[in-house]
Order: sequence, then structure tokens, then C-alpha cells
Amino acid sequence: MHKSHPKPEEKQLEGREPKLPEGQRREGKPEKPEGLLRRERYEVRGVVQGVGFRPFVFRLALEEGLAGSIGNDTGGVTIEIEGPTERMEAFRRRLQAEAPPLSRIDSIVVRETPPRWEKEFHIIASDATGQVSTGIPADAATCADCLRELLSPNDRRYRYPFLNCTNCGPRFTITRRIPYDRPQTSMARFKMCAACQAEYDDPTNRRFHAQPNACPVCGPRVWLVSPNGTEIPSGDPVTAAINRLLAGEIMAIKGIGGFHLAVDATNEAAVMRLRERKHRYSKPLAVMVRDLDAARAICELTSEEEALLQTIPRPIVLARRRADCGIAESVAPGIPWLGVFLPYAPLQHLLFADPRVHPLVMTSANLSEEPIAIDNDEALARLHHIADAFLMHDREILQRCDDSVMALVDGAPQLIRRARGFVPLSVSLPFDSPPLLAVGGHLKNVFALGRGRFAYQSQHLGDLENVTGLDFFREALQHLMHTFEIEPEAVVHDLHPGYLSTSWAREWAAERGLPVIAVQHHHAHIAACMAEHGVNEAIGLALDGTGYGADGRIWGGEVLICWLDGLDSAKFERVAHLDYVPMPGGEAAIREPWRMALGALHAAGFDVESPDVIALLGAKPKKVRVLRRMIDRELNTPLTSSCGRLFDAVAAVVLGRGVVDYGAQAAIELEGLAVDEPDETSPYAVPITGSDLKRHIPARITLNLLWEGILEDLRDGVSKAQIAARFHGAIATAFVQAASSARSATGIRSVALSGGCLHNRRLARLLRTGLEANGFQVYQHRNVSPGDGGLSYGQAIVAAAILTKRKAEG
Ligand SMILES: [Zn+2]
Ligand SMILES: [Zn+2]
Repeated sequence: MHKSHPKPEEKQLEGREPKLPEGQRREGKPEKPEGLLRRERYEVRGVVQGVGFRPFVFRLALEEGLAGSIGNDTGGVTIEIEGPTERMEAFRRRLQAEAPPLSRIDSIVVRETPPRWEKEFHIIASDATGQVSTGIPADAATCADCLRELLSPNDRRYRYPFLNCTNCGPRFTITRRIPYDRPQTSMARFKMCAACQAEYDDPTNRRFHAQPNACPVCGPRVWLVSPNGTEIPSGDPVTAAINRLLAGEIMAIKGIGGFHLAVDATNEAAVMRLRERKHRYSKPLAVMVRDLDAARAICELTSEEEALLQTIPRPIVLARRRADCGIAESVAPGIPWLGVFLPYAPLQHLLFADPRVHPLVMTSANLSEEPIAIDNDEALARLHHIADAFLMHDREILQRCDDSVMALVDGAPQLIRRARGFVPLSVSLPFDSPPLLAVGGHLKNVFALGRGRFAYQSQHLGDLENVTGLDFFREALQHLMHTFEIEPEAVVHDLHPGYLSTSWAREWAAERGLPVIAVQHHHAHIAACMAEHGVNEAIGLALDGTGYGADGRIWGGEVLICWLDGLDSAKFERVAHLDYVPMPGGEAAIREPWRMALGALHAAGFDVESPDVIALLGAKPKKVRVLRRMIDRELNTPLTSSCGRLFDAVAAVVLGRGVVDYGAQAAIELEGLAVDEPDETSPYAVPITGSDLKRHIPARITLNLLWEGILEDLRDGVSKAQIAARFHGAIATAFVQAASSARSATGIRSVALSGGCLHNRRLARLLRTGLEANGFQVYQHRNVSPGDGGLSYGQAIVAAAILTKRKAEG
């Protein structure tokens, strides 16, 4: 095993202390102890395993001339450190300040112990403690040191697409099970060569215990494959792939968390061909660029957006597209933003190392909402009619993981899709949770495992609408339960009886004899935001697409009072909501916003069969009559107070967006329309009526005047951008007013903002500024998505509170 330990006199060190160059060994000896000698024991918690923490501490101890040891334990690492007081203090200061880039220290418990007069510092091997439960770190983008090697002709890893080190490389996506050691990863089949093994064993090397360590001699390789599965002979598959991309071909390229479909983003015909083959006509496609300068060339970036692009997870960042960016119009049709990201894997860096390569569309290799393809055979089977060729490799991807998506919302980074680079990092819980599983919602599913003070959210799993989605869910759950050794004692699901996630949760719990807890959708949203900030009591504004309400109707424009202070955490009070409107055709109204417009105009007192309104809806009079009759007879026409559906209805009327191709398309386009309008517009009137909180009757935010205003503006030829801005202003004003009424009734001054509509930058900004101007303390999501991706975290919080309460009551 330890090939670098050939000398017999060093044998005693095996497994206890790695080999050191002579000079450093001497340095490690503390001076003859003089003055005060102290010994301390540190228990460090957080992300401190598999991220180069032990060699870092080792080097730190050498530099400070301290003795002792470091080893992994079940919850993190334990450090024993001994030396003169002032050196110990320097050590502790530097431990926090200089920790490795991928590490995250959550807490350090320090205890003083009797000195042992030790002379050296050593690293205790994982297997020596016998009870290591090593968490798996998240995948990390290629670091600057590795990138330098990749592009240095004299380096032994020059142009090697799988180089990595302790500070970078795949982690979560190549790991089968814990502990995170090479035999448990898909690197197990690649036996390290002598040179790689020597790096791996040397604590002063930045590849010390870098589990995916590899080189051209011993590691994985890439090759080119045609859609029929045969290898395309090529001396240099990367250059061959580049030539194909430049010729406008569609390449399927195996990455870190799955395959990408790549195409030249400046080639309109090529992008259109990708869209036609994928049957995806307007959903925005992400664009990967060479470097920050290339990103600046296509987007107007703020310094915060530039910083976000360069963070270790290398997320896709939604930023304002430049008018002259040269990116094909069909990459993100109809909206003023582009999703842009930087290369994060060596193979991607190699593509862009060729100066001929333009920005590339790099989109998850899947059909519509099904899971991303990861396996070579699976990719061929599913993508052979989309890709012109495949750039494959033989390092197996074991966990599917899409690219993460973020945006700067109201000055702070917000997660829109939490996946690669964030999973399986924990999010803290405000109080102790028994081991539990929260299954999330229906669309954009993410589940969460809770235990103690932490929740572990899964990667974005897509929509749970069919068997493929459910298989991915099961696969990811199995893996995460295994990773953190969590056996749930309760299962939490959404209140919606018809969700696939609900029926699955009930069955799964029944098989195991576990209790199930149903949590209302918007209650979970608000609890999630409050928990992120440790807020005990708040007025929650849940502005969302659709969620099943406690009254059986479809909610989504809600003002809820919520508590997170122990016994009351399990309940909430609905104090106001957007007025109900009919949703003719139910789910069909989500895909066809013109139906929502019809329902909303009908509810606002307009004659929807009048020629004016029919023209506005852009629908056939006969169809309008049918829907009108469905509303009157209450046939397949649920009522909804959804804010997202209101955006749809307004977009249908203002933009003529009658049918959508992807979720939230209408709302995103409406936000885009207003992007250059000043915030100070005169909003439409949105009066609030009917509140009687003593009798628990919520207030209604009425929409009649809003619709009258919009239709009047359209008649008067007011610009659509201005109408969109006035509408955003109206929604913000209405909810600020509703929050003020709730404060008058309760005295609560904190507001938590959540729900998918908070991805809307204009709305988020207007709400915050309006609330703050009225003396509120405003809380927005930071580490958890405000959309349905954050739902399971909120479910876990509410369920933990309910279980704690049950326990307290015996
Ligand atoms: Zn590196
Ligand atoms: Zn090697």
C-alpha cells in the first residue's frame, strides 16, 4: 500500500504517520519546552473531511513548531496540539483564517488536557480509529494550481482531462458510499501509478489523499463515439470534438454530474437544430464561456455577479445580456438575461484552450424534464437522435447532478437550482430534529434528510411526474441515506393528496411503520425562510405558483403568520390572500395562460364573451364560450389565489403569451419586459377588503381595479413595459399593505419572503424596499431556494417541531 515507505526503519510509522522529508521532521520538533507548555484537544465540526484539512493542519503545526496529532472522527476531525502558549494561539487563529478552500468550519470545541511532552506532529490514518463516518464533500471546480499544470507543456499532466487535487475535482458524483475513500469511488478501477501514489502518500503534497488523483499513465481517458456507438478513431479526441463544434455539430460531452449537449452558441442554425431535436423551443439554454473576460463580453456583469461566477461550485449565473453579445437569439428568446457559466472541469478547460472556440451552449443532456444522462450506454440510447457525436470517458458518474443556477436577487446571491457544488453540503436547522425524510413537492423536486441540527438537501431532481423521475428520486435517496447514515423515523410530505411524492411517501412510511406528517405548501416555504435566519415569529409573504391550501383550494398569494418557537411551530394563521379566481381546466390553465386571463377577467366582472376581451385573449369565441360555461358550472375549474397564475394571466393579456413552453415562462417574460423601467411607477390600485382576524377570516386582496387599470392602459396605448412595471408595483404595494395590517393586528414586525415568485428580481426588490420603508425587518432566502426546491427544508422544520411537541406531550 504505502509504496513510498520502503525503508524498514520507517515501517513503524505506517498507518500512524506518513513519510516526511527529513528537514520538515526536524522542524516539527518543538524546541525544548520552555515557559508555559499547554496541550489542547480540538473537536472541529463542519466540512473538514476529504478537503485537505489534515495536511493543512499538519503544515500549520510544523510552521508553528507544535506537536500533537490530527485524525478524522465520526463528526469531523480531532486535533491534539501541544506547545508554548503564544504558538498555540497563533495556531488557533490561523486554523480559522487559512483553512483550505473547500472546507467549512462550523464549530470548534477546545478542551485543555495534560501535556504529554510529545516531540512531533502526526496524521492518524482514517482506518486506525475504526469508526470513521466520512461525509462526502461537494464537487469542486478545477483549481488554479491544477489549471496551470493542465496548460503547462512540461507538466506530466499537460492536457490531461482528469487532473485534480485536494482542493478541486469531483467528489459527490463519483462516490458510491462512505467512507469517502478511493475504493468507494468510481476511481477504484484505476490503480495509481508510482508517481501518483507518492503524491497521494505525501502530506506535504497537494494531492495527499486526493481520492480521484490520476495522470495520463494510470487514470481515465476520453474518446469520441458516433451515435451508433462505434468509436471514431482520432489521435486527439478533444480537438476532433472542437472541430465538430465549430462546424455546427451537436456534441454530447460527458462532464462531472452528467452529459451536456454542447453546440456553438453563436451559430443560430446549430442552436435551432438542437432545439428541434430536443423538442424544447423556448426554455433558455445556459452558455459556457472561456473566462471572466468572455463573460463580460456577452453580459453586463456587476462585481457581485463576477464573484458569483468564480465561486467554487461555478454555478450558472443569470445576468443581463449585452445587446451586441453575438449570442444566437434562440439561446434565450424573449428575455433580457443569459445564463452564463465558466468551465469547471479540465475537459471543459481544454475545449476553451483552443482560441477558435466560441461561447458554447452547454445544456443538461436530457429530454424535457427527465433526469440528466450519466452512463455512456444510457447516453447513447437516449441521445443518439440528438447528438452528432459523443465525447465520452471511462470515469463513471455515480450520482446525477445538474449544474446549479443562481442569480443576484436584490443584491444577494439566490439559489434557483441547487445541485452540483452544493450537494451534499448541509444547511443548519434552528432546533434539533429527529432523523426524518421530507420528500418535497411535485415540480423541481428536492428532498431533505434531517437529523440533529442539520438538513441535507438532495440535488435538484426535476419533476416527479413519471416513473423515470421517481427512479431518480429513489436512487438519490438511497445514496444520501447511506452517505449520512440516516434512517428516517418519520416521513414528511406536502398536503396535496394527488402528488406522486405524497403517495410514494405514504407507501414508503407504511412499509416501515413510520409516522407521516403532511405540511401545507406555503407554511413550509415561510418556515424555510424563517429557519434560515433563526426568526421565531414572522409575517410570511408566500408568493408562489400553486400549492394545495388548507381549505382544499389552490393557494399561492398568501400572507401567513408563522411561529418557529417550539410548541406553536406546527401551526400558522392565514391573514390575507389574493382574491380567488377560477382556473378553467385546472392544470391546463398552467400550460395555457390565456385560460388564466379568462378566469381572472371573469372574476373581475368583465364579460369575457365581449369582442374586446376575446381579442385580448387571442382565443376562438367558441372556446371562450366553453370555458365560460365550465366556470359557471364549476366543472374542472378549481379556485386559486396564486400569485404566479396572476402573473400568467397578466402576461397573456399584455404580451399575448397564450401558451407556455416551460414553467414560469410568462412571468419571466413579464419581468423582462419591465427590466429598464424605473421602480417608481404609479402602481394599479389593489384594495384589500373583508378582514376579520378575530373570527379568523382572512383579508382578500382584490384585483378588479388592477384589471380595469391594465385594460385602460392597453386602450390608451401606454407602453407594455410601463404596464408590466405598474403591475409589479401593484403586487408589491398590495402585499406591503397586507403586511402592515397584519402587524397592526399582531405587533409582529418581521417579514419572511418566500415562494417561486421571489425569483423575480423586480418583485423581490420592490417588496423589500416597500417593507423597509414601512419599518419592517425583511428576511429573504440565502442558502435555500425560495422556489419549490426549498420546500423540503421547510417541511423538515415544521415536522421536527411537530415531533418535538408530540414528544413533550408524551
Ligand atoms: Zn486542484
Ligand atoms: Zn498516475
